Amino acid sequence: MTNKLFAVVPAAGIGSRMQADRPKQYLDLGEQTILEHTLQRLLSFSLIERIAVPVAAHDDYFDSLPIAKHASIQTCMGGSERFESVLNGLNQLLKSGAQEQDWVMVHDAARPCITQADLQNLYDARSEQGSILGVQVRDTMKRTDDNAFVLSTVERENLWHALTPQLAPIGVLKTCIDQCVEKGKSVTDEASALEFCGLQPKMVAGHPSNIKVTRPDDLVMAQAFIKEIQ
Ligand code: C5P
Repeated sequence: MTNKLFAVVPAAGIGSRMQADRPKQYLDLGEQTILEHTLQRLLSFSLIERIAVPVAAHDDYFDSLPIAKHASIQTCMGGSERFESVLNGLNQLLKSGAQEQDWVMVHDAARPCITQADLQNLYDARSEQGSILGVQVRDTMKRTDDNAFVLSTVERENLWHALTPQLAPIGVLKTCIDQCVEKGKSVTDEASALEFCGLQPKMVAGHPSNIKVTRPDDLVMAQAFIKEIQ
């Protein structure tokens, strides 16, 4: 029997750098919120069985979205850090029928411009050690001191921006995040947890449209991308 595919879309952040009146995933991008676009794109990838969406404890927005009633979407409690939200999402999937050996794609709520081709390429590269989408660094990279004076040029060969989704077997990812928590290691993304446990996730070149909406300017870019991409 082939292992199934599930998704976790952590959506419990505040997104304070957007300086908006609501968490950034609930800002409008055309006729829908950022989060609705993100979920719709994952739902369109027919291999995904179900999506767990960790939301903040006092979230007043999610339940008002039409997509909240979709049969393949279930919410759970978010955490105070992204990795805690992800862990809750993984546990929610396991509680409701997913198996440890099934696959999970973890995708930021704030990345609405994910393409079907990227989802397929990531899935095709699935590995027990994990796989992640990334974009190769194009610009010359500089390291500065705290006052923005250049200290050095960083070799950009084999340097990537790590994006999401990041894909791994549910049980492997959960064990690795648990290990990080136990050892006090910070978990910035799923791959960092896998790396900490000695695994070597595969990097899959993704489309540069898959930006994370972080600052007001990003919303303008996302508006342009969302009209163009499949
Ligand atoms: O803040 P940032 O953009 O890095 O967050 C990445 C993703 O993680 C967002 O989708 C955000 O909603 C989610 N997140 C979360 N729980 C937190 C912090 C962030 O689900 N405590």
